[in-house]
Amino acid sequence: MPTSKDTDKVAVITGASSGIGASTARALAAAGYTVALIARRAERIEALAGELDNGSIAIAADVTDRDTLVAAAGRVEKELGRVDVLLNNAGVMLLGPFDAERKDDYKQMLDVNLLGAITATEVFLPLLRAGGGGDLVNLSSVAGRTARPGNGVYAATKWGLNGWSEALRQELQPDVRVIVIEPGAVATELTDHITHEETKRGAEKMYEQMAITPEDIAEIIAFAVTRPKSVSLNEILVRPTVQP
Ligand code: NDP
Repeated sequence: MPTSKDTDKVAVITGASSGIGASTARALAAAGYTVALIARRAERIEALAGELDNGSIAIAADVTDRDTLVAAAGRVEKELGRVDVLLNNAGVMLLGPFDAERKDDYKQMLDVNLLGAITATEVFLPLLRAGGGGDLVNLSSVAGRTARPGNGVYAATKWGLNGWSEALRQELQPDVRVIVIEPGAVATELTDHITHEETKRGAEKMYEQMAITPEDIAEIIAFAVTRPKSVSLNEILVRPTVQP
């Protein structure tokens, strides 16, 4: 039996263990949502569930492993009873010059950023539709609208996410609103994982100079999903004011 009240709203967030995902969990909890926190680092999401202290649950899963997402959806249905928001936020940004040395990075970005979002959506969509509709929020990027040297495959994942989201927006309306968020530089752990040292140093320097906070993005996501159902913020591009 679901443990939540029928009036409770439930959000599922992938990549909830840090950065924008963790901040959005806090913002949505403050807006009254119970949150299913999904990521690989179980200890992080368990600590966050404890901090939220509102019935939110931590589910260790890898968006590149469909079976773990299917198990996660099963737990959400059993323990929370419904899904009102799915935030496809899990992502990696492994920048660097395009060459064969980074072929593993390219596969990981495609698997997590694009295929992971698509898989999480097909797995959770029946639950999102079951309650009469909901919000599908896809975390894209400024890199989903522009491209520059060194970010080609990352940009490809985000351009891909945008194209797929627009098709889904038309396909799923009016039951499900599709909302694409396109941040510029945000201070999170995203640059920590860049494997090309020179690119990593450059990205860290740029982020130190201008990045806005994950809370800034979380507030915008919470605002978007709490608009009246007749209003759909389809695409939100948000840069630090000083970002060129
Ligand atoms: P973080 O590195 O802080 O967060 C990334 C999250 O993704 C972590 O919670 C991580 O959890 C999760 N993740 C990575 N791989 C997997 C996986 N295989 N399965 C499940 N979860 C995974 O970075 P951000 O908060 O910045 O990134 C969130 C999203 O925002 C990404 O999609 C990113 O592309 C996008 N974005 C970020 C910008 C920025 O400047 N920070 C700008 C524009 C877009 P764990 O490791 O525990 O699995």
